[in-house]
Amino acid sequence: MKIKFLGALGSVTGSCTLLNHRGRYYLVDCGSRQGSAGNIYEPDGRIFRFKPSAIAAVFLTHAHMDHCGRLPSLAKQGFNGPIYCTQATAKLARLALLDAANLPGSQFGTDDVERLRFKCFDDDPRFQFGRPIGIDANLSVSIIRTSHILGAVGFEFQFAEPSSCGSRQRRTIVFSGDLGNNQDHHCYQALLNGRQYPSTHASYIVCESTYGASNRAALFASYPERIAALDRVLADAVAAGAPTTVVFPCFSLQRTQELIIDLHCLLSKRQSGVFAKFASRGDPSANSRQIEVMVDSPLAQKYGQVFAHELRRVRQSGKPYYLNPELPSRLGLTNDACLDLLDRLFGVRGATQMFDHYSLSYEQSWGRMQAPPLQIIIAGSGMCTGGRVVGHLRRLLPVPSCTVVLTGYQGEGTPGAELMKRARDSSSPINVADWGMRNSQVKARIVEISGFYSGHADCAGLLDYLFHKDSEHEFSAVKRVFLNHGEQSAREGLERAIQIRASERRCDDRVIEGVELPHPVGSWFDLINDRWVREWHPVVEPPEEAFAIVMNLLALVEATIGTPAGMNANSSAQSSLVEELRAMKAILQQIRGEFSRIVS
Ligand SMILES: [Zn+2]
Repeated sequence: MKIKFLGALGSVTGSCTLLNHRGRYYLVDCGSRQGSAGNIYEPDGRIFRFKPSAIAAVFLTHAHMDHCGRLPSLAKQGFNGPIYCTQATAKLARLALLDAANLPGSQFGTDDVERLRFKCFDDDPRFQFGRPIGIDANLSVSIIRTSHILGAVGFEFQFAEPSSCGSRQRRTIVFSGDLGNNQDHHCYQALLNGRQYPSTHASYIVCESTYGASNRAALFASYPERIAALDRVLADAVAAGAPTTVVFPCFSLQRTQELIIDLHCLLSKRQSGVFAKFASRGDPSANSRQIEVMVDSPLAQKYGQVFAHELRRVRQSGKPYYLNPELPSRLGLTNDACLDLLDRLFGVRGATQMFDHYSLSYEQSWGRMQAPPLQIIIAGSGMCTGGRVVGHLRRLLPVPSCTVVLTGYQGEGTPGAELMKRARDSSSPINVADWGMRNSQVKARIVEISGFYSGHADCAGLLDYLFHKDSEHEFSAVKRVFLNHGEQSAREGLERAIQIRASERRCDDRVIEGVELPHPVGSWFDLINDRWVREWHPVVEPPEEAFAIVMNLLALVEATIGTPAGMNANSSAQSSLVEELRAMKAILQQIRGEFSRIVS
């Protein structure tokens, strides 16, 4: 097997890796990029750098757009194979893609989404995480749960091929997908059970590195602390005066569902600080007429219904597929009562639910004469780039008794990043011109609790994933770890951390022999012979790719012999060689120009 890294190299969007096993080509993920570098598979954002019709199948890790967002375009341009994933991912990805198809400027339509053929591993009642499933002759795949979002998994491909010296070799390559925080022994986040580890046989691991260079404080790995932080935010909001409105700009997938559970944990008990503040405000009998949680997001409601269904599912062994085993006891409920509650919280039992001390609604209560004493609004988008939250913020940012709570990553240049500046420094000026507002008009409190809600493992979590070893089994060494899905500084930070940890040679650790950061303009990596190879695969790669390979080679040779050290050795011969290389490049560029003219 050979692999070629195409996307999410030095960035966190546009995940895509090409696999070649005995003449058949597969993709792991086919995500959209969001304006960042490091993705070469669709240079102009429309045309793939491979032939979609030559792809036999896609293995999809999870339903985030940076992993699935280009699938409809892939189908539109000729891909007709199955998309292997979990049932949860198929349902969530379909909803996400249908929503994206209706956005202005979308490069695909709903018909392109409808033609995608999801093939779910867990359609088979005998499905088990970690058990190999045959894909092709001498190729099988095991599914590893990652606890990043509902349905998210990594893939472990097992294959056998003859090596260059003729002997038959068995190898295993693991694709981590995005890794969440929950671990088997510590499911501190609300909904999902723990993530699993690569098997004993992993010879290569492709690992994400989103937070590879940083570690979160231990505080953030505590569910009671998370609830306490949320309690403080709401109590402070009530103390700020009436009418109290708290807005959570929130990602509609996973973050919204977690927040709904957290708010229920808090508001279903009278001991919350919110009620004490109400009492001190002269409202001693806070009840469901006084606190309203409003989820203003039709997409989040659709996702919620998938959550309610999938969290209910159990495997043949009787164990749940995804449900956090700690959730029922945290809520003080039996398993069945907990699942019924999830149906109510996620909108399966109707758009409005009354609980003892608060109400939860998925629809605007237009008929209400006046706002309740405390209204909590959850609305997308998470980075405030669009969606319903924009209307709420326009209305509420000038109101001093309102609070905006950020719970997630805010990309550079987004309105959410401006709000984050103010959350971290209450005197910081912010630019809200996009919403027709001046800095001086922003009177609402802006706070953040994003550390508690991250869906990605930090450096320590990634090291735990990579080095974890079940001491009962014989382990083979990992030849190389390839790092993708991280900004360059995060990849480099994780690379250093892996090297340091590997050099310690702890007896409980898996052995890792090397770590690498694949480049955006890369070669194929031969997993049987353990080396990079410069090849053009005309079945899947257009002629343009052959040009690119030769041009890169020439640039490499030019850079090597054109270095000052080389020039000193034999300056006139070296410089004439460099001149000749440049002439060759120019001619090739000319041929490429002619070629594109003929093709177009
Ligand atoms: Zn993700």
